[in-house]
Amino acid sequence: MIFESTFKKILEVKEIFKSLVNDDFEVENIFKILEKEQRNVKVYLSLKRENGVIDIFEGYRIQHNNFLGPYKGGIRYLSDVNEDEIKTLAFLMTIKCALVGLPLGGAKGGIKIDPKTLTEKELENLSREYIRKIYDFIGPDKDIPAPDVNTNSKIMDWMVDEYMKISKSEDKKLKATFTGKSVENDGSEGREEATGKGGEIILESYIQKLNLRKPLRVAIQGFGNVGYNLAKFLYQKGYKLVALSDSKGGIYNEEGFNPEIVMECKKERDMISGCNCVSGVCDLKLEQDITNEELLELNVDILIPAALENAITIKNANNIKAKIILEMANNPLTEEADEILNKKGISIIPDILANSGGVIVSYFEMLQNLNNEKWSKEKVFEELEKYLTKTFDEVWEIKEKLNIDLRKASFILALQRIYEKYKNYNI
Ligand code: NAD
Repeated sequence: MIFESTFKKILEVKEIFKSLVNDDFEVENIFKILEKEQRNVKVYLSLKRENGVIDIFEGYRIQHNNFLGPYKGGIRYLSDVNEDEIKTLAFLMTIKCALVGLPLGGAKGGIKIDPKTLTEKELENLSREYIRKIYDFIGPDKDIPAPDVNTNSKIMDWMVDEYMKISKSEDKKLKATFTGKSVENDGSEGREEATGKGGEIILESYIQKLNLRKPLRVAIQGFGNVGYNLAKFLYQKGYKLVALSDSKGGIYNEEGFNPEIVMECKKERDMISGCNCVSGVCDLKLEQDITNEELLELNVDILIPAALENAITIKNANNIKAKIILEMANNPLTEEADEILNKKGISIIPDILANSGGVIVSYFEMLQNLNNEKWSKEKVFEELEKYLTKTFDEVWEIKEKLNIDLRKASFILALQRIYEKYKNYNI
């Protein structure tokens, strides 16, 4: 059970948190509440395929907690999406939004489908059908979905269009029901790159604290929205990207890759494998195709899982040689792996901190829609940096003061914010 093992990670700070707030009774209550989602919507979606046959797909929207504000969280399309996974991710959204100080709660959604098996028109129809089924539960002051794995601004645009049609309203503020829309459709500048940009800001803050010198050697698993954009920002900052991968495999080059050139090659080949010779230097002794398993076990300074959850488990944790792990995917380490890596002395920058740039800029997108504003990308990134450096400093202070790791310190800060709100909440 993914949720159970993820929840165990936060349970580890319960006693510390009790001693901090001196309110054992209410802390027990809060943990009881956080262990359950507030609403769990399961839908069956009908899709008429282009050959006329109807296929039925399972979909979910799980709303975990809204003490801090409307529910917020992405929608993913994956063939093995399930309730346990979506609940876990919704819980992490509650914690993430609290951690970075947003007036938002946590949710997540998904459809059990491999989008590559659909035509473009079928993908659009299925996305619209999902919105028809969850319409009653979403809205700018209820629940605000966003893109996640295998969803993007085009899909958000279809969804917001369907939502506006059903609501029979022309009120542009309703567009704040979705974030991650295209810029032409009232999306925010910088949203596409925001999660990667946030990862860069957090990593830079971390290496400054530790006085680490560049070039640092980096391996990134996953070359989608998060992995690619982060790679681009890290490359600009002088990190050496020695290994990159996507679902079909990876590439390695000791000289380091330019991610933009790799992306051009990936687009041509529809995969990253075989793109190892695209950064100028091409020496068969230095570069090669590697598997995703090999990538994770490389001897690099920084390992960045940016694909799916459970990339590092009890099976490979002992083989990890990186010194720092920046968790850009949600929940990339199982609970056992987390424990093993901590014992090995590997520093872990947790997902709720590292990948929070996406939800912060989603919040900026909501603000722009609600106040009829348009921010420049510079302003978006400036504001993002303010949120993230403030949060990082607060987490660091807790870590130093209590002598705990960054994940535990992040949980404590998030719990403090939830606890403050909970005290005034009418249950
Ligand atoms: P995406 O669909 O754009 O990209 C996913 C990438 O991972 C693709 O390159 C895919 O080929 C690769 N991949 C899939 N399975 C893999 C495997 N087994 N091994 C190696 N690579 C594999 O998705 P994304 O938006 O980049 O999301 C990636 C992760 O980041 C997810 O865990 C997601 O929940 C998390 N996240 C995303 C955002 C966001 O704003 N998009 C925000 C926070 C967290």
